[in-house]
Amino acid sequence: MYINGEYTTGKSTERIPIINPATEEILEEVPRGTPEDAVAAVEAAGAAFQIWKRMPANERAAALHEVATKIRAHHDEIVRLLTQEEGKPIPEHEEELWWVEETFDYYAELARHERGRVIPPGETGQFNFVIKEPYGVVACIVPWNYPLLLLAWKMAPALAAGNTIVIKPSELTPLATLKLVEVACDHLPPGVVNVVTGFGPEVGEPLVTHPDVPVIAFTGSLAVGQRIASLTAPMMKKLHLELGGKDPMVIAPDVAMDQAVSGLAYSALLNTGQVCTSTERVYVHESIMPQFSEELADFVGKLRLGNGLDDDTDIGPMIRDKFRVKVEEQLSEAVAAGAKTLIGGQRPPQISKGFFLTPAVVTNVDHSMRLMTEETFGPVIPLMPYKDFDEAIRLANDCKYGLGACLMTYDARLVKRFFEEVKAGTIWINDPLTDNFAGPFGGMKMSGLGRELGQEGLDEFYEVKHVHWDIEGGVKDFWYPY
Ligand code: NAD
Repeated sequence: MYINGEYTTGKSTERIPIINPATEEILEEVPRGTPEDAVAAVEAAGAAFQIWKRMPANERAAALHEVATKIRAHHDEIVRLLTQEEGKPIPEHEEELWWVEETFDYYAELARHERGRVIPPGETGQFNFVIKEPYGVVACIVPWNYPLLLLAWKMAPALAAGNTIVIKPSELTPLATLKLVEVACDHLPPGVVNVVTGFGPEVGEPLVTHPDVPVIAFTGSLAVGQRIASLTAPMMKKLHLELGGKDPMVIAPDVAMDQAVSGLAYSALLNTGQVCTSTERVYVHESIMPQFSEELADFVGKLRLGNGLDDDTDIGPMIRDKFRVKVEEQLSEAVAAGAKTLIGGQRPPQISKGFFLTPAVVTNVDHSMRLMTEETFGPVIPLMPYKDFDEAIRLANDCKYGLGACLMTYDARLVKRFFEEVKAGTIWINDPLTDNFAGPFGGMKMSGLGRELGQEGLDEFYEVKHVHWDIEGGVKDFWYPY
């Protein structure tokens, strides 16, 4: 772990083995952090906040650019490590790390730009302005599916705004996080960045309930988000929650078949379907359903499963067996209720180790099945026909989540209806899962609170103060006595 600028194994003598999901081999062990370790990290971050918040914005910007530069210098090493602990293929980790590097540069600059605004006074002689101030210590709690990207989307804006941080990586994927901090954060004042490794109940909960942690920036499951919200409700903390999703894609009949087939395969199967914005429900116009489902099954059947380190791998393993079992259960329940598997959904017999599952295309599904209502987080593409666009929009909105939604069409009238009527934090037209540094990312409904990226993603880490200044002073005629 990394606390107050020093490496430590913390108070516990226990270790957590980190497993390569493609080979099931132990890569490394990390300390099983304790509540005392979490408290030590918060104290270090609290002390460092007094220094970091006073640093001029230009100096903080230079320090964050240096983080980006140092990560780039270790790019290949970190990509390899990420691939070993998380499993997705190298090109996907190249992309992830590029995002990380650019995010530090982006927020280094954005935070130099403004820190509030001057507002018109209510009366002559008054001066009114708004100051944005950092909160203090931010707990950054991150899942395993994009260990560094989701960290950077919190870490870069939180630091750029002048906060200090305690990072809790997933207990499944802490290695790249520790490597990033080791190679890229040594120039920061001690305590500005801290990392505690361990399990949610043992280090996550002491962090989120610590009275000196005013902000929790969390990405993970709905259940843990709800737990954090209930634990911290009495303390009135600022919660920034990026939770689960069940993203729909609507395929209109006018779209080119090859775009719809390969775009859908990408958005449903990227990272083996373990993306919060994976397409997990697909609504296909009934007129193209037979041809579309056949071409999709054919395309998906040609994708190559394997170790993410191998050049010819399209689809890596799932992160752990228990998540694979959850997907298999959703699939078999759906099949028992009448769904038809066109292809996939099996453990590949030719691969003896690793948590692999062949990508599945499923038809005859409906909204009575968990496969169409609960997050699946695996390589499954369920297809359901729709008759008209009213029905497509109704089905897209028939979900407790509202993270992303995609429409495949060239018809501008459908596009306008879709982005106006579908309740989701991101709407993609023809190009699913593409993010933009300046475009806010986050969820509506049960998918969370707050936004990452863009100005919105920086503002999450500022507290706003209004200053009302009567420059001349003097006794007001509306003061006592009436
Ligand atoms: P998870 O909720 O199990 O764990 C996320 C993190 O929270 C881990 O670091 C974990 O150790 C920690 N944690 C667990 N219990 C805790 C507790 N009681 N208190 C504090 N911290 C605790 O999620 P996961 O399995 O790592 O990730 C998959 C989930 O993340 C999926 O539901 C996915 O949709 C979601 N996700 C959301 C987004 C988004 O941007 N909305 C992005 C990626 C992943």
